Amino acid sequence: MDMQIDTLTSRASTTHFVSTGTVNWVILQSDAGVTLIDGGYPGHAGAVLESLRRVGSAGEEIRAALLTHAHVDHLGGLVKLRQKYTFDVYAHADEVAHARREYLEQADAASLAPIAWQPRVLRWLSQIIPLGALSKSGVDDAAPFSGLRALPGNPVAIPTPGHTRGHSAYLVAEGEAVVSGDALISGHPITSHNGPQCLGPIFTHDPDQGAESLEAIAVTDATLLLPGHGHLWEGSMRTAVNEALSRR
Ligand SMILES: [Zn+2]
Repeated sequence: MDMQIDTLTSRASTTHFVSTGTVNWVILQSDAGVTLIDGGYPGHAGAVLESLRRVGSAGEEIRAALLTHAHVDHLGGLVKLRQKYTFDVYAHADEVAHARREYLEQADAASLAPIAWQPRVLRWLSQIIPLGALSKSGVDDAAPFSGLRALPGNPVAIPTPGHTRGHSAYLVAEGEAVVSGDALISGHPITSHNGPQCLGPIFTHDPDQGAESLEAIAVTDATLLLPGHGHLWEGSMRTAVNEALSRR
């Protein structure tokens, strides 16, 4: 599995940003164990464990997983990991029903049809379908987050609805970095552009709301963006948000 791990060390915890060619996840590590933020596609469960091993942890140390949102590329690996390990899965209150698969708010074959002829999109589909992109499994007991500060890494939620109705970003590494999920990405297999950007409307529940939500990221003092797709990006969050909005 091709993965890159960028590590940030702060006083009480360590943040590991794990990026793969298709999707990213984050490991928050402290003496109390590990908080995962997102967990890749179903086919990434082994890669998540491999990433934990590479940073000196193990599946047994997972205390909780946070979802930025409940799309299959962020939740699928966690569904698999929970067949073997015991940990709670939390999301924003407005995302919990989605995580439980009481409804599905995700691009499907019909919504992808207008772009499915593009070579990049075809290549992307040929990568993600074997990773379990068509899985409809959810986390039946996903719960709304509260008291995140008590979890390893002390994450702070930044609600950013739009990509999905209960999307949330997280401030980590003692305020140094934002885990932005799909509210703000820095690259994606279906586009050639590298740099802060929003995902296209086909993949977004409410693009205008998503654009408005970015202000909550822009006002942080973080200088590192750890997106759901693309590479780690360094700079002020205001700059990242302005760049993304200017490309809409
Ligand atoms: Zn995604």
